[in-house]
Amino acid sequence: MRSILLFGFLVGYISCWETFVGHQVFEITPRNEEEVTKLRQLERESHLQLDFWKSLTIPGKNVHVRIPFSSLQAVKIFLESHKIPYSIMIEDVQTLLDKEKEEILFHQTRKTDYSFNFGNYHNLEEIFQQMDHLVEQYPNLVSKLQIGHSFENRPMNVLKFSTGGKKPAIWLDAGIHAREWVTQATALWTANKIASDYEKDPSIKSLLDAMDIFLLPVTNPDGYVFSWTKNRMWRKTRSKVSGSICVGVDPNRNWDAGFGGPGASDNRCSDSYHGPSANSEVEVKSIVDFIKSHGNIKAFITLHSYSQLLMFPYGYKCSKTKDFNELNQVAQTAAENVASLYGTKYKVGPICSVIYQASGGSIDWAYDYGIKYSFAFELRDTGRHGFLLPASQILPTAEETWLGLKTIMEYVRDHPY
Ligand SMILES: [Zn+2]
Repeated sequence: MRSILLFGFLVGYISCWETFVGHQVFEITPRNEEEVTKLRQLERESHLQLDFWKSLTIPGKNVHVRIPFSSLQAVKIFLESHKIPYSIMIEDVQTLLDKEKEEILFHQTRKTDYSFNFGNYHNLEEIFQQMDHLVEQYPNLVSKLQIGHSFENRPMNVLKFSTGGKKPAIWLDAGIHAREWVTQATALWTANKIASDYEKDPSIKSLLDAMDIFLLPVTNPDGYVFSWTKNRMWRKTRSKVSGSICVGVDPNRNWDAGFGGPGASDNRCSDSYHGPSANSEVEVKSIVDFIKSHGNIKAFITLHSYSQLLMFPYGYKCSKTKDFNELNQVAQTAAENVASLYGTKYKVGPICSVIYQASGGSIDWAYDYGIKYSFAFELRDTGRHGFLLPASQILPTAEETWLGLKTIMEYVRDHPY
């Protein structure tokens, strides 16, 4: 008994697993500018260690914020004294985390032979194994290429789907934000879908007759590993800057598109820290270099979670692109097709109007670089579980997302430019 306790203690100690016991997620909807200003004040109180899952924007738009147990009283008093209404969206974050862990273990123990369970969350090693497995299974269609490495020297592994020759291509990535686990899982399911259905699904066949697809399932491998081993809520990269105790950069504020502008932070400890310079993150730089060297990428699609949104440029400025009508039409159709399967409703529009002005994002860079069809998905849900989407929702999420992805890819195929 004692040794078990000691073992448990050591494991807990060695892994330094960050706990979220008693953390709650509030939904707050400021009703007017005054309340937005008050909430901005609250946001600046860094000692409260608030984690904004859904950022503060304008009156009428809700905010989701994770509040550590030790700050709960202070936040409640603040909100109540200013008469700002709020509701508790998640009672105890740790309870959801425990459930998530249980579900992962449950699916693992049911595994008998080598059969990859796409309806479960997997660590980086398992994801890489499955990518290799796909290449072995479908050598004539799927290959793996390493486009670079992460700050901690993990490979940036991309799956290439091609029937041969060099065709115009579609770029698809997931997991640039580490904690958005349903995106890496959806990307992997999608890879398997494309490979396994190629022979039997004429729409995939005709897609790959005309185009190649490059898919990067884990864009931020260091962050992903960290979210598995140390802190489930980790979002950024794991790069270190001298002279700061805070680690990491928000890799989706690090692209050379309005870099350092509104909606990104210059505070190294912030979750939306843009980094010392554009492309300072080797993960971002690797993708930029790959896309430039390829020279014929026609669509750039990135998967995030959560909020159920399908967005297109711009984020760093709020003016419409010259392709607004077309992009909006494509996105609307894609969102309708997503909803056709399980009724999951998506909001559609430019980043700036759908969420908020945010600079240094990947699809803005892609668009300005000349890739007209640039889209960002925010997958399930709308906050009930937030980043902690139960594994039981991976398959339905991936299936419905596929309908949206396919809509975009087929449109791109049929509208060469
Ligand atoms: Zn994200």
